[in-house]
Amino acid sequence: MEKSRIYLAGALRSIRDKYPAFMPPSKKLQYVIGNGYFNSLEYFNFYNYFSTFRFIKDNNTVIDVIAGGYYRHELIHYVLSNYKFNKFLNEGMAALLSGGEVRYGSSTGEDWKEIQGRIAMDKSYINALNNTDSLLMGSYKPEMYGVSALLLHKYRQKVGEAQFYKILFEKLLFFSEAASIQFLKTELE
Ligand SMILES: [Zn+2]
Repeated sequence: MEKSRIYLAGALRSIRDKYPAFMPPSKKLQYVIGNGYFNSLEYFNFYNYFSTFRFIKDNNTVIDVIAGGYYRHELIHYVLSNYKFNKFLNEGMAALLSGGEVRYGSSTGEDWKEIQGRIAMDKSYINALNNTDSLLMGSYKPEMYGVSALLLHKYRQKVGEAQFYKILFEKLLFFSEAASIQFLKTELE
């Protein structure tokens, strides 16, 4: 858990440095580490009990059945928990700020490289990027995480971190999913 605490402090500091108005999470994080699927049962709804990690906003809880206390993607959800972003931005930000971590199991750099590689090569990613409406239908798709993280990453590169957070917290926060995608695509044209 020490590793998580250091990571959290660093993530909070790096946002606040660029965007002093940032509101850090107001409630203490509950980080539950289980050692098997059944441990997580009591925290999940029946239909998704097999999930291995999740951030539950209502009670500030990260459930971690696999990462042993250091799941960066879920920690970023906690860092941003005072803001209610739409699903597309919320997952894209968690993926981007955790260094591309969409799933647990590989290093940050590898995950990010994998996303970029897929976006260049994988048909489902390419289609998703060209037809972003498809990303917003149905359940959470891995392509949605990747495409959102990539668009945010490119936009951050273009405008710099301070402007990126300003737009994110003062403008995109109030946008729908479709409007956020449209905004990012237009800005990147
Ligand atoms: Zn997530």
